[in-house]
Amino acid sequence: MLFQNAKMLALRIISGSLAHKTRPLVSHNLLSVITNQAAAVPKIPWRTMSEEAKAQAGRPEGPTIFSKILDGSIPATFIHQDDQCVAFKDVSPQAPVHFLVIPRKPIAMIEEAEDSDAALLGHLMLVARKVAKEQGLEKGYRIVINNGVEGAQSVYHLHIHVMGGRQMSWPPG
Ligand code: AMP
Repeated sequence: MLFQNAKMLALRIISGSLAHKTRPLVSHNLLSVITNQAAAVPKIPWRTMSEEAKAQAGRPEGPTIFSKILDGSIPATFIHQDDQCVAFKDVSPQAPVHFLVIPRKPIAMIEEAEDSDAALLGHLMLVARKVAKEQGLEKGYRIVINNGVEGAQSVYHLHIHVMGGRQMSWPPG
């Protein structure tokens, strides 16, 4: 009987029916932080662990996978090509639409772009905008350039990520 009463009391405290008489086990604020954070976890992870690991490894030696895409030795699904850059679908899309715009010039990272690259960098942005429109991203999209280890860059050939087709959240991971 004593045990039954204790059990009932515990249940009533948890369910909040005695909230006016006792301190709640979990405050409302804390509860809303927990539930909001759970709701904010994206269904599609921003990056896979293997990409994280690659990015943490830093800058590798030799030709990049993107220079091989540019010389045709590795296939890609191209959606734009001109004399300065190409755009192709990301092999591991993080959104319904995810493509990369890369310069033909082998600039390793935005950190290493020079003043003389200003027109090329502007061209990459305008191509990103043009292709995003062609891909039907009229409701908006996100443009990302990862730079270096803490920027989680895994391929050391400058590239602009363009992602869209779903609601983005902020801050990114
Ligand atoms: P980052 O981590 O910013 O350097 O981004 C590199 C991106 O390149 C990642 O989103 C990869 O999924 C993508 N990627 C890697 N290899 C290929 C490939 N062969 N074709 C298309 N995208 C690729």
